[in-house]
Amino acid sequence: MQAILPPAMLGILGGGQLGRMFVTAAKRMGYRVTVLDPDAQAPAAEFADVHLCAAYNDAEALRTLAASCAAITTEFENVNADAMRELAKTTRVSPSGDCVAIAQDRIAEKAWVNKAGLPTAPYLAIESVEDIQVELAPYLPGILKTARLGYDGKGQVRVNSADEARAAYANLGGQACVQEKMLDLKLEVSAIVTRVSPEQLSVFPVAENIHKNGILDESIVPARIAPALAAQAQQMARQLAEALDYVGVLAVEFFVLADDSLVINEIAPRPHNSGHYTIDACVSDQYQQQVRAMCGLLPGRTDLLSPVVMVNLLGDVWQADGGEPNWNVLMEAPNAHLHLYGKKHARPGRKMGHYTVLATDVDAALEQARALKETL
Ligand code: ADP
Ligand code: MG
Repeated sequence: MQAILPPAMLGILGGGQLGRMFVTAAKRMGYRVTVLDPDAQAPAAEFADVHLCAAYNDAEALRTLAASCAAITTEFENVNADAMRELAKTTRVSPSGDCVAIAQDRIAEKAWVNKAGLPTAPYLAIESVEDIQVELAPYLPGILKTARLGYDGKGQVRVNSADEARAAYANLGGQACVQEKMLDLKLEVSAIVTRVSPEQLSVFPVAENIHKNGILDESIVPARIAPALAAQAQQMARQLAEALDYVGVLAVEFFVLADDSLVINEIAPRPHNSGHYTIDACVSDQYQQQVRAMCGLLPGRTDLLSPVVMVNLLGDVWQADGGEPNWNVLMEAPNAHLHLYGKKHARPGRKMGHYTVLATDVDAALEQARALKETL
């Protein structure tokens, strides 16, 4: 496969913060970028060469994208997988529409994980009301999750009994769901793999992820788990990418259970919030990897250059009137990096930016990162 070199035009579906960081990585390397996003103020549009401000299924915008770009990727999973398959008839598209379709549907996703020989939480796929009229005890207490369009803990209901599960299913409008057993989590970790071909595959160091209210709050790298367990997570991510014949950047979220076994929670067919740390702390970052994979270049090295902690900045830390947090102390910390996504309106729960703190060990980085948060 011929490598695509700068200054070729690259296309991306979606212009949120992941798209913004993709655009800046691609532009630094000398590529040009076209962003398709219906939001006139999309975070990625600020740096893109071309912003196609149109719906993701707008036929003319998709035709323009296909005609003007040497390769196309996506920054979120809820794009139309058929549109991606259509684009792939004339342009290089990665990841494939098939892989995106799997990642956007929890039922398909879990089935694929199991098919790859990897464990998920015990779950029941519920495609219609008959599917939930079975013995639910193996999945209780549990979480009912919509199969599609859930993110940051949205579309999930905790249920303690079969009656609660059935009522929750009805409340969600009878859409396809999975009923998943609630597991006793020791930790959550993630591994991000870049795969260009069977021989060309690399995995970033494993991140330990701490969530608040269903939203990622902190990522700690290296994860505070045994090196052998981290290696196992990386191996499982590789195995899944292989089973999916995946091309691009694939994020894999894991649960670490009380007995130190690993279970795959979910996957994302793109760079991931828990991989933002790679920008400041690794030889290559996850956005450069996305560029490299879509261009048919070898994945870059993923070595960690320094222990690091990443902290998400949600709209909650902005003033009630929308005023900026107090950046003074954070900006003066010589081992911290602030990343803001250029979003005009802060809302509680909205991802507005993040920062990283690099230190000689993760405990020091974590302590400083948390202290800095208090100063905002
Ligand atoms: P989202 O798409 O919103 O990230 P997840 O399936 O990753 O949805 O769930 C969000 C969070 O909820 C997880 O990171 C984890 O903290 C918790 N969670 C989800 N499923 C389970 C489970 N089966 N057992 C225990 N905790 C869970
Ligand atoms: Mg998740």
